[in-house]
Amino acid sequence: MVKETKLYEALEVDPGCSDSELKKAYRKLALKFHPDKTGGATSEKFQEISHAYDILSDAQKRQVYDQYGEAGLSGEGAGGHGGMGGLSPEDLFSHFFGGGGGGRGGRPSGPRRGKDVAHGLKVTLEDLYKGKTTKLALQKNVLCEKCDGKGGKEGAVKTCATCHGQGYRVMLRQMGPMMQQIQQPCGDCRGEGEIINAKDKCKFCNAKKVTQVRKVLEVHIDRGMKDGRKIVFNGEGDQAPGTIPGDVVIVLEQREHARFRRNGDDLFYDAKIDLVTALAGGKIQIPHLDDRILIVEILPGEVIKPGDLKAVMGQGMPTERHHDFGNLYIQFEIEFPTANWTDVAKIEQLRSILPPAAELPALPKGAHIEEVSLTEMDPRQKARAEQGHMGDEDEEGQGPGVQCAQQ
Ligand SMILES: [Zn+2]
Ligand SMILES: [Zn+2]
Repeated sequence: MVKETKLYEALEVDPGCSDSELKKAYRKLALKFHPDKTGGATSEKFQEISHAYDILSDAQKRQVYDQYGEAGLSGEGAGGHGGMGGLSPEDLFSHFFGGGGGGRGGRPSGPRRGKDVAHGLKVTLEDLYKGKTTKLALQKNVLCEKCDGKGGKEGAVKTCATCHGQGYRVMLRQMGPMMQQIQQPCGDCRGEGEIINAKDKCKFCNAKKVTQVRKVLEVHIDRGMKDGRKIVFNGEGDQAPGTIPGDVVIVLEQREHARFRRNGDDLFYDAKIDLVTALAGGKIQIPHLDDRILIVEILPGEVIKPGDLKAVMGQGMPTERHHDFGNLYIQFEIEFPTANWTDVAKIEQLRSILPPAAELPALPKGAHIEEVSLTEMDPRQKARAEQGHMGDEDEEGQGPGVQCAQQ
């Protein structure tokens, strides 16, 4: 269904007519109403058929016209890319009959496309693990329903005759020795390309052709989607006459998680265990991203060292195609007994249980020996010492610690 038939009526054709029928109709009428035939000034009828042919002979413009009516085309060329829209009836006539080679110019014309609008959507790692459907409300412009995006009553909107609906006029200006072409907003229509009588203006949209509405989008977050993932709602951008609405693009932003870090489809978890668990085995609990709690067993004698990284296969994030899961990597931190653990009997017991300490190398003959002891530092001393220690690391070009390497 076409929205308006005015242009088709001007050429005395059916809205469903073919390109060649269109051509024939224009040829017949243009010859009949050409100023040369009617004697003198460009008749209104000649202008009308030229305008109609100009639009309908361009497939894209015809499409916009069929969909939105003439109001849809008024935005055309506002940015100066209106293609052939600015041809005068005479120019069009000579183009048509004069051959001119190649006909209707090489520049692509057609409806402009509106801007895409991006919205960030904060999601939790749980959402990305389990999947979720969430609603997102946004404001958008839609064509005014009262005037169908025309800005005024039927027939009240006239294309500006001065600028042929372009909204601007090309002027010549003397710039020193040269003439320069400049574009100026058309004064007659104030750059709008069309004129609407004040009394015929649509009250609902105040002749703006669009109104703002609240639109709720249902966003499907699939399992395994990643931070930065774009979910596109085609054509949900702002509507405007003569433009194809752009897309609304939802960009997922994953919030930091209290327990897990994510890298691709893998999860990383820091586990703190006591020394005895590290040496003698035991269990740790990891609440997962769904309602499960993973019980991870550390085998007796496995001996977990500080910074050790172990994997639990298949317990990472679901991959987006749902066929598989990444891995869960656990990095261990060992909690040693607090300092001044002075139970001599137990310490001796420990000495009998643990593998023996490495033997000291034999002292060279005649070596000067000095016994020294360790001292606890006060916080300021400690901070200074640590700074110096880190400085050394930098100088020696040591790589970052394991922990950094995983970020
Ligand atoms: Zn309106
Ligand atoms: Zn104008």
